[in-house]
Amino acid sequence: MVGRKSNAWAAKDSSAHLSPYSFHLREAGKDDILMRVLYCGLDHTDLHQMKGELASSTTNYPLVPGHEVVGEVLELGSEVKKFSIGDIVGVGGIIGSCGECSLCNSNMEQYCNQIIFPYNDIYKDGTPTQGGFSSLMVIHQSFAVKIPEKLAPEQAAPLLRAGVTAYSPLKQFMNSGQIIKGGILGLGGVGHLGVLIAKAMGHHVTVISSSEKKRKEAMEHLHADAFLVSTDEAEMKRESNSLDYILDTVPAVHPMSSYLLLLKPEGKLIIVGAAPEPLQFLPSEIILGKKAILGSFIGSVTEMQELLNFWVEKGLTTMIEVVKMDYVNKAFERMERNDVRYRFVLDVAGSNLE
Ligand code: NAP
Ligand code: ZN
Repeated sequence: MVGRKSNAWAAKDSSAHLSPYSFHLREAGKDDILMRVLYCGLDHTDLHQMKGELASSTTNYPLVPGHEVVGEVLELGSEVKKFSIGDIVGVGGIIGSCGECSLCNSNMEQYCNQIIFPYNDIYKDGTPTQGGFSSLMVIHQSFAVKIPEKLAPEQAAPLLRAGVTAYSPLKQFMNSGQIIKGGILGLGGVGHLGVLIAKAMGHHVTVISSSEKKRKEAMEHLHADAFLVSTDEAEMKRESNSLDYILDTVPAVHPMSSYLLLLKPEGKLIIVGAAPEPLQFLPSEIILGKKAILGSFIGSVTEMQELLNFWVEKGLTTMIEVVKMDYVNKAFERMERNDVRYRFVLDVAGSNLE
């Protein structure tokens, strides 16, 4: 048995060009919600996956991207207690896991070895998963969160993956009792949310960017405390040993040495950007100073909800450009050229996909 038909846009090959496509959703079960997609953020990971350049998985086409999804609940399975019809809900980078292992039982289900991704994966019933560039989605209630009433749905979309990718690793520095000096490397979708979240946590925030272009807006709009241009060797050297952490969001290969130098002893370089080739560093660059390089992957469903509440409590605003589906190819082209301030959000419901 298959479920409803959904109208979407999909990449048909590694050219990453998206065009209309329709498919059948999986059949909804007793724990599932059927949602009408309202908005979906555009993430650089969508681009990596469409181009087939993610080392962690091969890409199956047609691929419907989209894992920052906000929708309205249309139907509920008989066992759904968490939501009501008409609720505005969000779905991020994970739509399933085993539900039984120690990771799933400690709000770290994003690291479960049976994680199911919103697209380019296979659901438990054997149906290929497809993402939020689509009119409808069926989601298990455990993997959806409630969007707070005070938050506009298009504002919420980027928080569900890009936002929680910054929030989850930065949380460890939240209530440290001392002034934390953080660096955000790469001011894109994840990076701009990283700046806002780190500032709201009370950190002193330095943006580390590849050019001068974003200095004014980083300082004036995002209220960063300092701005460093990564190609300015003298300035980078002057700031060595100054940061407790760097959140590295760069999606391409980049030299590690100069960033490791910026860290204080015991500082942490937290990698979230998925460069498609290996990154290099010299062991002495971390041995001297007892520095750490670590990775972090999205956040748990609990952390997604936590971030949404934190966002409303702190009165923060996502900086987005809302576009219709017929602009999606142009939007990805602009993302690749580093020409977006700072996240595209697709108005899926307003794009007449039905
Ligand atoms: P994005 O909007 O394209 O932003 C990336 C930023 O990195 C750019 O704005 C640019 O900032 C900088 N940059 C781009 N190319 C660069 C280069 N060649 N050298 C140096 N800096 C460069 O991308 P995003 O959506 O934020 O995603 C960033 C990365 O995080 C992607 O690889 C994505 O797959 C990954 N990601 C990971 C997770 C996770 O869970 N770990 C979650 C979401 C996304 P400046 O102009 O300031 O230099
Ligand atoms: Zn598990």
